[in-house]
Amino acid sequence: MSRNYRNVLVFFVVLLLIYSFASYYMQRGMVTDEDVYTYDQFEDDLEAGNITSIEITQNEEVPTGSIRILFGDDTEGSLYVTDVNEVISDVQDYEVSYVVSNINRTSGVLTGVLPYVVLLVVMMVFMFMMMGWASGGSSCGRMMNFGKSRAKMQDPNVQNVRFDQVAGLHEEKEELKEIVDFLKSPGKFIDVGARIPKGVLLVGPPGTGKTLLAKAVAGEADVPFFSISGSDFVEMFVGVGASRVRDLFEDAKKNSPCIIFIDEIDAVARRRGTGLGGGHDEREQTLNQLLVEMDGFGVNEGIIVMAATNRVDILDPAILRPGRFDRKVAVGRPDVKGREEILKVHVQGKPLGQDVDLHQIARTTPGFVGADLENLMNEAAILAARENRRFIKMEDVKKAFIKVGIGTEKKSRVVPDYERKITAYHESGHAILFHVLPDVGPVYTVSIIPTGVGAAGYTMPLPEQDNVFNTKSKMLQDIKAGMGGRIAEELIFDDITTGASQDIKSVTSTARAMVTQYGMSENLGFLNYEENSDEVFLGRDLGHARTFSEDVARQIDREVKQIVDECYADAKKILLEYVDVLHACANLLLEKERINRDEFEALFEHRAIEA
Ligand code: ADP
Ligand code: MG
Ligand code: ZN
Repeated sequence: MSRNYRNVLVFFVVLLLIYSFASYYMQRGMVTDEDVYTYDQFEDDLEAGNITSIEITQNEEVPTGSIRILFGDDTEGSLYVTDVNEVISDVQDYEVSYVVSNINRTSGVLTGVLPYVVLLVVMMVFMFMMMGWASGGSSCGRMMNFGKSRAKMQDPNVQNVRFDQVAGLHEEKEELKEIVDFLKSPGKFIDVGARIPKGVLLVGPPGTGKTLLAKAVAGEADVPFFSISGSDFVEMFVGVGASRVRDLFEDAKKNSPCIIFIDEIDAVARRRGTGLGGGHDEREQTLNQLLVEMDGFGVNEGIIVMAATNRVDILDPAILRPGRFDRKVAVGRPDVKGREEILKVHVQGKPLGQDVDLHQIARTTPGFVGADLENLMNEAAILAARENRRFIKMEDVKKAFIKVGIGTEKKSRVVPDYERKITAYHESGHAILFHVLPDVGPVYTVSIIPTGVGAAGYTMPLPEQDNVFNTKSKMLQDIKAGMGGRIAEELIFDDITTGASQDIKSVTSTARAMVTQYGMSENLGFLNYEENSDEVFLGRDLGHARTFSEDVARQIDREVKQIVDECYADAKKILLEYVDVLHACANLLLEKERINRDEFEALFEHRAIEA
């Protein structure tokens, strides 16, 4: 913060300097109103004998020029004339000495333009300085280095970051311990012929601790940490990004074993050839260079490239190929337990009053990520300090909660109990159907942690095998599982919510595709009734080319409806049969917010024992 203020100050000082510099030069060429000396006055003065001598500076090729006038009283004046010859003939009538000095055109241009050149150079240097400050937070010493990599080598603080400072994220840490091991003792792995991943991609919403994790890996392994942000690469000069990547890897090779951390990699590694107005050349060059470098260093050279992004879907697929970022670690939003652990980390050094209940705070902050929780406790500490208290009270946390909520619009993410309950049943409904139906599932995770992109929770089935074909029975099961959420809501609550709109959409499109694309309906048979929406998208055919009659359209709708209705009835039957599991699952979700496969499947086993 203070650095920002300083930068702004420096900015204005330099601006002021440039302004005064410029106006100085401007004024040399201009004369203010009061001392405008006209040709008439000059002639008068000549006549009156007030002038002792004049110097004329002119350009040979043009008649214009400027004259410097020395008056009898030792003062000076100047005049710009459009016809030097006329002045000379005038002057010759009087007893006035004059000198004419010719300047040739080029030097004339130079003197005229030089100030501007100087100005331009000053401004450019200044711009580079600002750029340096803006992205690197660097000192003036670095300003001439703009082609060099902006990676900050060996941030001494990184060396002190340890895994225990990263709360929650147990599985993520477990996965990364292997990397630490390798960096510590590469020999062990090389001897046995193991190929260590070159790149690890950390994927997760902002503020979940990706950067922190990367630093902790470097800290644990005690190796240098080169970090650079993807947005640093996106500069206005073509070629700079690519050369930075080159320098970065060169530096890293000299310091191996080490970690290169590329934050916000989506800024460079966005899918190539997308975006309006053609590709972004600079970005593509940078990305290509990055790929070249990653392919270039050998296996087991001791460099591990870590990168972070919150959008894996927009990344260029090339980056995920083997030998590049071949490991992906998902860093999710923390569940209740995770949040409590994170809170414990961030209350260190902040004395708490007796009434502060971290568990309670964790419970009321679903959807909050690590950065939010840190912010929350910090605000609470500020509020306590304002009241000159040495410890934080629960009241401070509550006030901070409102502040943090309003400031970042996180308030909308704080889910009321009633909604949590509905979500818990909704997700349980999906999960049970995924589990019970033979061709879909098994269920990997069920969660009611808000995802921050509008969804209140999610159920993640993990397909057992990669199928090339979709079968009719699997598609029907997909439809049923998709309906599970809404049906569970209906069974348990009197009312239903809008939360199932996405489910309804995908159920509809699956059912429709079965009828119109895959010939899986009873009566419409082996025909394609697709309306080509691609063409409409291109604007080529807004009138819509429909290749079948109104009658067929009606029939399609009937068939789709029939599939959906049958699936609905079937799904409802299954859920009614497992309604005890539904309650148990929802209750477990309300308690833990996120349950994994083992915990979920245990619910069915208990049932078998009881029965
Ligand atoms: P990301 O890189 O995923 O956006 P950061 O690693 O920059 O998130 O996290 C920002 C801050 O939030 C960290 O400096 C830390 O104070 C806090 N934080 C985030 N996640 C955690 C966590 N799991 N444990 C402890 N602190 C965390
Ligand atoms: Mg980060
Ligand atoms: Zn749903």
